[in-house]
This record gives sequence, structure tokens and C-alpha cells, in this order.
Amino acid sequence: MPLHRETRPAASNQSAGARDAFPTATIWTMAGEEKSEHKGPAAEKEQPRTPEYFITRWPLYTPFDCPGFTPPNPISFDCEECGKETTWGLSHNYSPPGQDFTSARYQCGLCRKKYLTVMYRVSETTKRSIMGPAGTEYRYDIAQVQKIGQFPPLSIAIPKALQKNLGVSSTDLYKKSLISRNTNFGLGAVTYIRRVVQDKTDELIEVVAKLAEAHNVEPEVVNNIRAVKKERTTYEAKLKIAATVVPSSLVVDGANPLAVLYDLVSAGIPDLTEEQCTALADETKSVFEFTFTHLRAEIKVREDFVASVKKLTGKKLPEPSKEK
Ligand SMILES: [Zn+2]
Repeated sequence: MPLHRETRPAASNQSAGARDAFPTATIWTMAGEEKSEHKGPAAEKEQPRTPEYFITRWPLYTPFDCPGFTPPNPISFDCEECGKETTWGLSHNYSPPGQDFTSARYQCGLCRKKYLTVMYRVSETTKRSIMGPAGTEYRYDIAQVQKIGQFPPLSIAIPKALQKNLGVSSTDLYKKSLISRNTNFGLGAVTYIRRVVQDKTDELIEVVAKLAEAHNVEPEVVNNIRAVKKERTTYEAKLKIAATVVPSSLVVDGANPLAVLYDLVSAGIPDLTEEQCTALADETKSVFEFTFTHLRAEIKVREDFVASVKKLTGKKLPEPSKEK
């Protein structure tokens, strides 16, 4: 994929190449190339609409299209007690008589001490006719559900490494973005996460410059990337300019995150629904985290590797091993 591609303005602008380039497939699974031009990246993004996603991650009140929904069993979910993702079993799924909601309760299968309760209601049904003994009968199948409660609340936990890199004020904004997202204030979620990207633009550019160094990119090119930090312009423009000077070797290796971030933060939101904003916020967060945490970790690994090889080459090297 060409590196110096024009970063097109907003909306349906990500090429399939840009998505495929990244190793973390989940970020890039956007469906439908040819959508209406009024729809932004959020509209293109296909949410993982599995019942498990609904139970574990879906925000409150946001309609969830899922024909024939039943609470999945088992599910994978983070357990505070166990300190990791574990398997949880459905211990009950109960609709109180005369009420229009259902309560699904899960228990951690490992420690058996932690529970997750999700209350949901059926917000849309589809009618179908069947032939019964007394003639035509009608059945109503679940078409859409809505989460109306969850305890413990949807997580706003931030991975420790990310929190450390973000610093206090950006962590605060980041949490506000998650809280907004989890309560279906998609517009708020986008605004807060964009503010985080804005505050961290120079650092993002530095991460990519370091990545370029770790990949032995010519010093002149690395300098060009760093020079963008000094540009007196908006953060979106900085991302756009920096994206065009990122060398193709990095893109082939799976990273022109700045171009993708630019696409996401420059997408217009006036026409988007709250739900589409939530999707846009989720994707911006994914790309941001990928760059900010993942790439940093990769740089560290490469630097450590280079350092250890340099140390070794100073000594007499043993016969090269066939092991990788
Ligand atoms: Zn547990």
C-alpha cells in the first residue's frame, strides 16, 4: 500500500489496504466499502454483534439488533478476583412475572465469588405467522434488545501501562470518554477521546519517529517526522502531515497509524447518530491505544534486541543457531 497516499477528508475514506496493514485485525474489520458518502468511518465499522459482546461490552440503552437473542452461556469476562479473563457461566436468566425485563446473572467459573448481572428488555420484535391446530397463529420473535442495567458497571478500567503513559489529565479525559460511551453518550465519548488524541499528538508522532529509528529508517526521514511536532498548526493537520512522511517500510510492517488516526479525528460528526459516534469513539480509542501502547512496546522489544545483538557482536559469536 502506498505510504504517501493522500489522506482523504473524513467519511468513507479508509482503503482496505490501510486496514489490512495492521496486525490487530479487530481494529480494521470494517464492512462495506461502498456506503453512502454521508456515513463516516463509524457507519462503516461492523460492530462485533455477538450476544457475548452485548452482555460484556455493549453500552446501556443502545439498541442492539440481534434476532432470536438469548443470553450466551458461557462467556469470557474479566474477573476482578481472579485478576484475569475467565469463563463465566449463566446462573440464571429470569423474567419477573408482569415485568418487561429479563435479568441474566453470570458467575465466574474459576473463583465462584464474582457475579455479573445484566438487565435487558426486548425493544423490537418481528411477527411471523404459523399454522396451528386452530388456524393461523402469530409468533413474535426477538429482533432487538436493549440493556437497561448492569452490575458491576461497565468497566472504565485503563490498562496500567497506558495510564502511566497518559498522565493524570489525559487519563481523566480518557475515563470520561469511557463513561460517556458506556452510557450511550456517543457524541461525548468522541469529543473526549479526540481531546486525548489532541493532547498526545506530539507524543504519538514521537512514537512513530522512534519506531522508524528502530526499523533503521534513514536519519533524515526520522528528522522529517520529528519536525512535524514543531509545526504551528492544528493537531489534525499535524497527524496528516506526519502520516505523509512515514516511510513505506513502516506501513508494510503494518503501521501508518497516524493516517488512520487523522481519518478518524477529522471525520465530521454532525450527521452521526449516538450509536455511530460510539463506534467512532471505540475505533479512535483502538487506534490510539495501538499506537500509544502497542507500538511503544514493540519499539522497546526491537531496541532491546538490537542492544543485545550489538553486545554479542562485540564478543565472539557462536555458530548461528537454526532456531529463530
Ligand atoms: Zn473469578
